[in-house]
Amino acid sequence: MAKIKMTTPLVEMDGDEMTRIIWQQIKDIVLTPFIDLKTEYYDLSLVHRDETNDKVTIDSAIRTQELGVAVKCATITPNAQRVEEYSLKEMWKSPNGTIRAILDGTVFRTPILVKGITPFVSVWKKPITIARHAYGDVYRDSEMKITGKATAELVVTYPNGQTQIQKIHDFDGAGIILGMHNTDESISNFARACFRYALDIKQDLWFATKDTISKVYDHRFKDIFQDIFDQEFKDAFEDKGIEYFYTLIDDVVARIMRSEGGILWACKNYDGDVMSDMVASACGSLAMMTSVLVSPDGKYEYEAAHGTVTRHYYKYLKGEKTSTNPMATLFAWSGALRKRAQLDGLSDLESFADRIDQASIDTIEAGIITGDLNCLMDHPDKKVVNTQEFLEAVAERLK
Ligand code: NAP
Ligand code: MG
Repeated sequence: MAKIKMTTPLVEMDGDEMTRIIWQQIKDIVLTPFIDLKTEYYDLSLVHRDETNDKVTIDSAIRTQELGVAVKCATITPNAQRVEEYSLKEMWKSPNGTIRAILDGTVFRTPILVKGITPFVSVWKKPITIARHAYGDVYRDSEMKITGKATAELVVTYPNGQTQIQKIHDFDGAGIILGMHNTDESISNFARACFRYALDIKQDLWFATKDTISKVYDHRFKDIFQDIFDQEFKDAFEDKGIEYFYTLIDDVVARIMRSEGGILWACKNYDGDVMSDMVASACGSLAMMTSVLVSPDGKYEYEAAHGTVTRHYYKYLKGEKTSTNPMATLFAWSGALRKRAQLDGLSDLESFADRIDQASIDTIEAGIITGDLNCLMDHPDKKVVNTQEFLEAVAERLK
């Protein structure tokens, strides 16, 4: 059988621990037997990030801007314990944070729904996609401990020397303060990405902040969304029969719980971080979630929503076979291949990407599952297999 051809390479960002093992297995078992895989390889393992002083992460993001589509493996974000474990030169920043900042993109996360796994929220019939603003707020903040009686102020200095000063608090004793920011440009990019994605998937867009409490900061988000919607997207939304709906974050949480799903829910950075974990858990597992970062000028980075599954990796190192769920990583690959195919006009590559998704879902629906799905899956003769066996079952269906 002739292998499916690619014309433009994907930016391939390899990662750490268990997901790095799965990465190679997916390539060996599901991809390279069927396609002439073309990638530009960047090793984002913690060891190599340390060796390159994290230059490899920046290089891979810049290359994504040039080539347009990347696929990323989960990576370790070092903490103090990792600095010791890997004898790191520095506590390097989160690679996802670095890549998101360079692409200034929005992350869209959607659960993978399969027959046999019913969401814990029983009214949810269709997937809820979370759009997470990927820049600023508490992720780019500046924090300080106040050690005793003090006055804390916000000070802004303009290039002409003019200053704006506002009191935060008069401290009588020890405490804490935090300064955070966002930019009109990034919020506008976020808004446009959400409106475009809603049109793409033909779903209503919901957006919420806490503008009643945060009368300047959150209110700015609300205003920018509304202005861009009114000026650029209102007609297109009407044509497609979808709507844009703004409300308060607590109201939207209550409404989501009563909705049947099929909604694109735009969240500020922190809300998106938390709510995507909630939606994923309610739908089964973080391993059953797709995730893509879309930049305002249409560059795509596909990834899994979960981490490097450290606990499984330590078992793997002891020689045990692990039953780690590869679905999110498989869908990252298929998502990247599909987007590449669409950009390059390669219909057989596009249909291969669709078949990967279908074969993976069919495998689970046939009762062949990894351990994490065991207590969720309702199937008369389900069988828990290890990761390699699962991927082989997917490849068998692809044949
Ligand atoms: P994690 O890797 O997502 O794993 C947490 C737990 O969730 C696992 O121990 C496992 O539960 C379950 N799990 C997650 N993915 C699974 C899968 N594919 N199949 C089966 N079970 C799965 O989160 P973590 O342990 O908090 O973080 C580990 C490392 O990943 C950290 O160094 C962190 O920095 C990094 N991280 C990276 C990313 C990213 O690159 N996108 C995101 C988050 C975290 P059981 O142990 O109960 O089986
Ligand atoms: Mg999170």
